[in-house]
Amino acid sequence: MPTVDYRLARRAHLRAIRMGFLSLTEACDAHPELLRAARFVGEEIREPCPICEKRALRLVLYAYGDHLKRSSGYVRRRAEIAEMRGRVDEFVTYVVEVCMRCSWNHLVQSVTTGRRWAPASGGRAVGE
Ligand SMILES: [Zn+2]
Repeated sequence: MPTVDYRLARRAHLRAIRMGFLSLTEACDAHPELLRAARFVGEEIREPCPICEKRALRLVLYAYGDHLKRSSGYVRRRAEIAEMRGRVDEFVTYVVEVCMRCSWNHLVQSVTTGRRWAPASGGRAVGE
């Protein structure tokens, strides 16, 4: 499954903040919808927020793709994504981290997945 890791972009973003090229207001601009999704559907993670250093980070998963039709772009729970993998030909899952404390948000990863990418044996893909 093709995976794009955005850690380098995240690091560059944080560096820009430290150097003053980007203000905290610009960096910590999570939309109210995203904050709501993080609160109700998001997954808590142990890592502290890179801005406020509080353990208030949550991951929000979105699924996009033509095969999802009108439900493309919806926030999904991890279990739903797993279920969709066996049902939908192809879609992309975007993982966004959101801080409930300071509203920092950043794209962490995107994964192209779905039936088309399922291993022929029906087993799990490497790294899952
Ligand atoms: Zn924070």
